[in-house]
Amino acid sequence: MIIIDGSEGEGGGQVVRNACALSLITGQPFRIINARGKREKPGLMRQHVTAVEAACALGNATCEGLAVGASEIAFTPGKVVPGEYRFAVGTAGSTGLVLQTLLMPLVLADLPSRLVLEGGTHNMLAPPFEFIAKTFLPILNRMGPKVEARLVRHGFYPRGGGRIEVDITPAPLIPIECVERGTLRECSVTAFVAGLPFDIADREILAARKALDWPEESFVVRQLPEDQGPGNIVLIEAVFDDVTEIVSGFGQLGVPAEAVARKAAGRMAGYLESAAFAGPYLQDQLLLPFALAGGGAFTTVKPSQHSLTARDVIERFIGRRAVFMDQPDGAHRVEWR
Ligand code: AMP
Repeated sequence: MIIIDGSEGEGGGQVVRNACALSLITGQPFRIINARGKREKPGLMRQHVTAVEAACALGNATCEGLAVGASEIAFTPGKVVPGEYRFAVGTAGSTGLVLQTLLMPLVLADLPSRLVLEGGTHNMLAPPFEFIAKTFLPILNRMGPKVEARLVRHGFYPRGGGRIEVDITPAPLIPIECVERGTLRECSVTAFVAGLPFDIADREILAARKALDWPEESFVVRQLPEDQGPGNIVLIEAVFDDVTEIVSGFGQLGVPAEAVARKAAGRMAGYLESAAFAGPYLQDQLLLPFALAGGGAFTTVKPSQHSLTARDVIERFIGRRAVFMDQPDGAHRVEWR
């Protein structure tokens, strides 16, 4: 039994999600103590419980102690059965994070699957749908499988009600090199509002235009149906030949729209100035598929706490360790030992 202290390193939900995925793939049971030990409200939240329940459902696994607020669970995996599954996060919890838990076991299964996930699709501290569809999945698909995601309905915190559908055609993962991002082909800033004053999106666009020297037609406002809100997000997208980076700014009560857009634009500027392939979020999300592929390499920005923690959890299950090497151009190259 692998014992994981969930308060070590970054100490968040990703430890739980990666452990479930790795347990289903390798057949090794695990116990996690101090789950989400470094978060303001430690213990499992509704979305983590849904993710573990979903892992149990498709992996014929059992989990002792699973409950909202639990800080210790023991997970015993069974056989992963591909097929059609629907999981709803009872709150606006992130569908993208539930997907993070289930995707790799289904990608490595022997038959296709379809997932319908309901809850939040554009949550703070989680990958927004577009990041999954345009940033993460194209790289995973280059490794062999075919995974397609559709956004059926937006879901914002706190109302939720969003829906995504994901079709997974499995394949063994092959190691790939993602070292150069190629030439910048397109860039855009889209401010979405649902059930909120249009003015919020206009102010975000204005602030982003001041911060990013991009052509006027790159800046767009999109109004979503009122019943999908209230919600607001700014997505800043840079499409290169070989990778698409998406930086998001989440509208929040009490935070001026200008500040949301300025911060996101600043983060995109930082990525553009670097020579890295993977930005800070793609970085931690690529570690699991690359490790399961048995190697390959990618370049990225400064290693994040999420990545260093994910690396430790992955090593516990499969004995393979990611190493981050400084490059002369300031980027970091990730390889496996
Ligand atoms: P945790 O904080 O442990 O629940 O993990 C959060 C996960 O969501 C990590 O895999 C992050 O890479 C990912 N994530 C958080 N914010 C974003 C964002 N703005 N864009 C893309 N991915 C994100």
